[in-house]
Amino acid sequence: MEKEKLIDWKTAIRRVPANQLDQVLAPIFDRTAVKFAKCVARGLPAGPGAASGKMYLNAERAVEAAAKGERVLLVRNETSPEDLRGMIAAEGILTAKGGVSSHAALVARQMGKVCVCGASALQIDYAAKTMSVNGDTFKEGDYISISGTAGEVYPGELKTAASEIVQVLCEKSLAAKDSAAYQMFKQLMDWCAKVTKLQVRTNADTPEQAANAVAFGASGIGLCRTEHMFFEGNRIDAMREMILAANVEERKKALANLLPYQKADFIGIFKELKGLPATIRFLDPPLHEFLPNSKEQQMDLARKLNIPVERIMARVNELHEFNPMLGFRGCRLGLVYPEISEMQARAVFEAAAEAQRAGVKCKPEIMIPLVGFKKELDLQIEVVHRVAKEVMAEKKVKLNYLVGTMIEVPRGALTADAIAETAEFFSFGTNDLTQTCLGMSRDDSGSFLPHYAELEIVKTNPFASIDQSGVGQLMKIAAEKGRSMRKDIKLGICGEHGGDPESVKFCHKLGLTYVSCSPFRVPVARLAAAQAALEDVPKKPAKKK
Ligand code: PEP
Ligand code: MG
Repeated sequence: MEKEKLIDWKTAIRRVPANQLDQVLAPIFDRTAVKFAKCVARGLPAGPGAASGKMYLNAERAVEAAAKGERVLLVRNETSPEDLRGMIAAEGILTAKGGVSSHAALVARQMGKVCVCGASALQIDYAAKTMSVNGDTFKEGDYISISGTAGEVYPGELKTAASEIVQVLCEKSLAAKDSAAYQMFKQLMDWCAKVTKLQVRTNADTPEQAANAVAFGASGIGLCRTEHMFFEGNRIDAMREMILAANVEERKKALANLLPYQKADFIGIFKELKGLPATIRFLDPPLHEFLPNSKEQQMDLARKLNIPVERIMARVNELHEFNPMLGFRGCRLGLVYPEISEMQARAVFEAAAEAQRAGVKCKPEIMIPLVGFKKELDLQIEVVHRVAKEVMAEKKVKLNYLVGTMIEVPRGALTADAIAETAEFFSFGTNDLTQTCLGMSRDDSGSFLPHYAELEIVKTNPFASIDQSGVGQLMKIAAEKGRSMRKDIKLGICGEHGGDPESVKFCHKLGLTYVSCSPFRVPVARLAAAQAALEDVPKKPAKKK
């Protein structure tokens, strides 16, 4: 319509519903195939697109099947970091439990994988390797299909097709000139760039995710969850060795084995970013998430590390928590074990030094999670500055970096002025901030939130779209207090809300510097940011008669 001069480009931006834009990036079902298919279960649409494959109920078996060339769907009650390899191998992920900011949902979105979560009608029997739903039973290796756009589960194999835009930008299997859909997408994004004020960064943990996001127009990384780097290949063993260490010396030895892995990942990320900033968050999840839970896995690890299995069992017991989300996680880990933060800081700075030497500009921004007390941040900042100094002296380079914090617990928001004395930036971790402000578990809210919507207690899922009058107040207070202490403090958001158009518009109103979302949501956020900027233009005063 713009080409035909029926509307101008600003109207074109306003007319495209931002929430629908990721549909042009997602794989789709063949229309006729899905028309005749019977939906057997519904869950939350957690990662858009369509996927078909043989279902596996365990990450290891999913990886093995994928290695044999099978197309695989990983089906679990819920996922944990242990499932990461299976999630990478799978075309799509289906869970019976969990909400839109559950592990499965956020990791799937970051990888651009199709995901349906919280499909509560599914009965998963790990021992029998079956999934039952409303009287139908599926065995491992049976085909199923899922629509992460609609949150639907189908039996059997349905034909899928990849988006042309992804073929051009990510897979590079289609030339831009041969795709009309891509050219229109690019035109829309170019218009957005002309008006937007809010930058759009990405949540990415790997060089590949960073590359995809940059291709979609991200202006840097707003959240690199470093713990996700510990699950690939043999790294998990070094991580487990670190957790099982009996004393500081042993822990330092295990950390030294992890350092080269982290460093190599950061170098890869810096190279893909080509000088764009990277916010790197230090270790966040509770340690027991990294330890094996089943007896079988514990025996396996004991053999590998050549230690008695009883020692592993004792440590798993010791680390058990009743409420892990409010337990020994976030900056608490780095405060009790400063050697973990030291290793992570060293990995960032050594990577930056090496990348810089190879001619790649680096802008690391180190982010400390779950800060509620200024002193928590200050103690971690001390470690970061000390290691930075050491690396700069050893490598004889000058490194530019920032240290800041996540604002994701109410105390952090309410005392943001004190925190901003030392924090060079804030990033709102709205997943945890929603969880702690509402006192609602982000992983368990799926059982009652649909009823809350029916009862009109909430209009939308607060884990998907910012609860503006509650959580939003905390953000407003934190932004104002932060600015009162540090006028130009950089403010961002990196919770899952960063890819939700209504939340993006709210962030624009708060005057944040950027929103950060998963790579495949970057275009959605860019469009929403441009729409917010257009809405903001002051109306011309009416002419006097
Ligand atoms: C958050 O809490 O919003 C956040 C981005 O951190 P995580 O989801 O890793 O807890
Ligand atoms: Mg968090």
